[in-house]
Amino acid sequence: MARSVGVDVGGGTTISALVEDGTIIEQSRSETGKNPVEVVDVIVEEVDDVLGKAGIGQKDIEGVGVGVPAFRNPRTGHYRFPNIPSAEDVDLETLTSKKLKAPYVIGNDADYTAYGAVNHLQEFGILKDGIGSESMVELVLVTLGTGIGGGVILKCMGKHMIQSSTGGLTELGHIKVSSEPEYLCGCGAVGCVEATSSCTGIVKKVLRSLDSSPEEVRNAFPRGFTAEDVDRLSGMDNTLAEQVMESAGRHLGLASANIINTYNPSVLAYTGGGASSSPDSIFFTNILSTLEANTLPEAWEAVKVVKNPDAKRYGVLGAAEAALKPF
Ligand SMILES: [Zn+2]
Repeated sequence: MARSVGVDVGGGTTISALVEDGTIIEQSRSETGKNPVEVVDVIVEEVDDVLGKAGIGQKDIEGVGVGVPAFRNPRTGHYRFPNIPSAEDVDLETLTSKKLKAPYVIGNDADYTAYGAVNHLQEFGILKDGIGSESMVELVLVTLGTGIGGGVILKCMGKHMIQSSTGGLTELGHIKVSSEPEYLCGCGAVGCVEATSSCTGIVKKVLRSLDSSPEEVRNAFPRGFTAEDVDRLSGMDNTLAEQVMESAGRHLGLASANIINTYNPSVLAYTGGGASSSPDSIFFTNILSTLEANTLPEAWEAVKVVKNPDAKRYGVLGAAEAALKPF
């Protein structure tokens, strides 16, 4: 029996799962730590917690995989967490090795999500069918949440992840889709798809336009509204919500067309909170129409486009699998 623990460190929540032969046996969740030491403490507590639920300890598992929303510095091996204050230069390996007794691997959360999702694509809803089952690139997965991330799985030579010199990052969220200065991205550049189409980008675009909108449009937004609210209002004739979701979908469609034209994958998958939008929403209909208009016809015929919002499930499954078979 292959038994390991997968941990997905999110901006707000850290989730862990005990996985046996590819099946989740136990799960646990906590609030992510507010500084580097707390982040690692929560990771270790989560591992012990999920093992405790199963009545076993760290000595009873083959390893732990930890997916983090962070950039790895190729020179120092330290991590930069853009969404956690004071976590600019974290020696995660050293901090973790002092506290975790089981063998472990650390990697990018979106890469682990792609690694986990590729074995469970039958759980994804089909937005557009395709015929390219023999593609060299099996899966490109795009995570739609606070930010936008992604992973690319190659089919050749078994299941392989495309990795970069910075440690497993295919930064799909920073594909440029606009030159408009309003789309300032968290990475410091302008026009990244993360700035136009992530949940954060959607909320920011509404906020920029709210004051100049008619009262009845403005009043429809609840206090502290989220991207999910904007998506919901776009299906209720709210003109501002319609415009923002149309723009977010069109820009994400452009980025996705670039991805398809680059990799010619057999599957393009969307996951994360943004993928909870309905297939006939303004968001997804604009993604698909922009995709079709901008993708090479042969690549478009080949690719299957799917979605499933439950990114955390695939994040922990992929992290647990990476603990057994690091890529
Ligand atoms: Zn960016």
